[in-house]
Amino acid sequence: MKTLIDEQELARGVARMAEEIRQRYGDQPLLVIGVLTGGLMLLCDLVRRLEMPLRLAVIRASSYRGEMQRGVLKLTEDSLPEVAGEHVLLVDDIFDTGHTLDALIRTMRERGATSVASAVLLEKSGTCQVEMKPDFRGFVIPDVFVVGYGLDYRDRFRNLPFVAILEPGDLES
Ligand code: 5GP
Ligand code: MG
Repeated sequence: MKTLIDEQELARGVARMAEEIRQRYGDQPLLVIGVLTGGLMLLCDLVRRLEMPLRLAVIRASSYRGEMQRGVLKLTEDSLPEVAGEHVLLVDDIFDTGHTLDALIRTMRERGATSVASAVLLEKSGTCQVEMKPDFRGFVIPDVFVVGYGLDYRDRFRNLPFVAILEPGDLES
């Protein structure tokens, strides 16, 4: 496994994002919504660096990848918090095609959020298929498959404290 972003770099990146978020929102109350499962590590590290009054929630979301249904979002309804009148900050692991975040942001707006912004740890370069970009991001990476710090391969490797590029030999064990 090849380390792409080590623990120290991750910590610096998250601190930088938190500073940008503080500058954007000041003391305004925020509803921070983490996207399960990949967004968990960033969610935990990020909110501990924020000082405005905030509420925390998590949602499970996945966007279908079938040709006919690109961008159709599957949301676990019972976990969706009331967003009407709130400044919402979505926190996810990685922005790849962008369909997941794009659909989530639309949903939050339809449900009456006052504002919706997004923060991702990683943004892949050259893979975006939507009109929007994340408002806050930790790192831009090349178009490679990464694991660690929340990101999985078949539900493994989320616990790695660094971000790594998965190599064929890593899957044998
Ligand atoms: P998007 O809708 O932006 O294409 O997809 C974002 C989701 O795809 C992420 O939340 C993540 O679950 C998954 N994903 C995209 N690229 C990677 C990657 O390099 N590694 C892992 N583990 N998941 C990825
Ligand atoms: Mg995800």
